[in-house]
Amino acid sequence: MFDICIVGCGIAGLNLARLLQDKMKVLLIDKRTVSVQKNMIEQGKLCGGLLAPDAQKEFAAQGLSIPVHVLVDPQIFAVDAIDLMTGVHAIYQRFYINVDRAKLDQWLYSLSSHRVELWENTLFQSYVKQKDHYKVTVRRNDKEEEFLCKILVGADGAMSRTARLSNSEKDRVPKYISVQGAFESDHRHFMYYSFFDRRLTDFYGWMIPKGDKMVIGFAASKERYQNDSFDTFVNRVTESGIKPGRKLNERSTLIARPGIGALPCGTAGDIPLIGEAGGFISTSSAEGISYAMKTSYNLHQAIMTDREHYLKLYEKSLGGLKRNIIGKVLKSKVYYTPWIRNVAMKSNVMAIKIKA
Ligand SMILES: Cc1cc2nc3c(=O)[nH]c(=O)nc-3n(C[C@H](O)[C@H](O)[C@H](O)COP(=O)(O)OP(=O)(O)OC[C@H]3O[C@@H](n4cnc5c(N)ncnc54)[C@H](O)[C@@H]3O)c2cc1C
Repeated sequence: MFDICIVGCGIAGLNLARLLQDKMKVLLIDKRTVSVQKNMIEQGKLCGGLLAPDAQKEFAAQGLSIPVHVLVDPQIFAVDAIDLMTGVHAIYQRFYINVDRAKLDQWLYSLSSHRVELWENTLFQSYVKQKDHYKVTVRRNDKEEEFLCKILVGADGAMSRTARLSNSEKDRVPKYISVQGAFESDHRHFMYYSFFDRRLTDFYGWMIPKGDKMVIGFAASKERYQNDSFDTFVNRVTESGIKPGRKLNERSTLIARPGIGALPCGTAGDIPLIGEAGGFISTSSAEGISYAMKTSYNLHQAIMTDREHYLKLYEKSLGGLKRNIIGKVLKSKVYYTPWIRNVAMKSNVMAIKIKA
């Protein structure tokens, strides 16, 4: 029997495994291959790979720094915010670390790989609570398998099956459809771009340079999203002056977007949820890496403090994070009101003036 089974090898699951590796017999499972991912353009969790200051701070707080081989050119000092409807734009100073998300996950896994057991290409299907343990069913190597564990953790991201199975009521954070394409790029951009276009979405889109390539992505609610939305978005990005080269691929996934009536939740039934599985992500920027790091740390602390009552302790520890997300929800009410954003951008307050 495993002491703990963590479903999902994203940032949250991998960080929890790292923190518990010396203390418990840990099993990590993931439906994808985490240990051998070439690069984020081809494989891995769909992500922009920008480490925001909150994430940088949390890495430091947990005694971690990012190795150079995880970084990708260029490092980002500025963002050009563009309203695709009005053409209004402004450039602001920003402090992002540009990483290859597939390599980030691989590196985080390497910090516990010699201690934890990893089952890749393994799809979590269901679980049954039995007295003081869980019987878990997975699909592994095309066969159904069952095993036992004392603690079961949902770290399976926005599409979380653990959350849906355990308590559909609590899986209530709305999900947006997010599409990201990789393109060749013969121009070396030094900034990243954020795009607003209320004809397509009440959220936003982005272009992030990745070495000699770029990723262009956007997110829209399920109600607003249409089959041609992404092509329309890329065309409008191109008209704004960005020139994507040959398209290499296009992938899509869901992304959680908490709201006031739909806040994150750290438990579903009798299992804990960490990271985006619990809906922990910024409503205003879609920054999720800091929340994945923080929730996994909080759960580790709760388990280490009291293995019987860890669920209650974990839920209690999330108060600050939930208040933080309420702040992001309120911020986005202002930020995503087009006329307010356009007035702010036109005013050029805090904006960088690019020198000729
Ligand atoms: C397009 C896009 C761009 C983004 N860009 C950024 C960014 O630049 N910076 C930032 O901070 N955040 C970004 N985010 C958000 C960020 O990626 C997530 O919030 C973060 O990855 C959440 O980490 P996690 O560990 O909770 O879940 P994830 O990283 O999503 O990991 C979940 C894991 O669970 C596995 N899994 C799911 N279901 C099952 C199952 N049934 N069985 C087995 N395994 C399963 C998945 O394969 C995956 O590996 C972006 C999100 C999207 C969609």
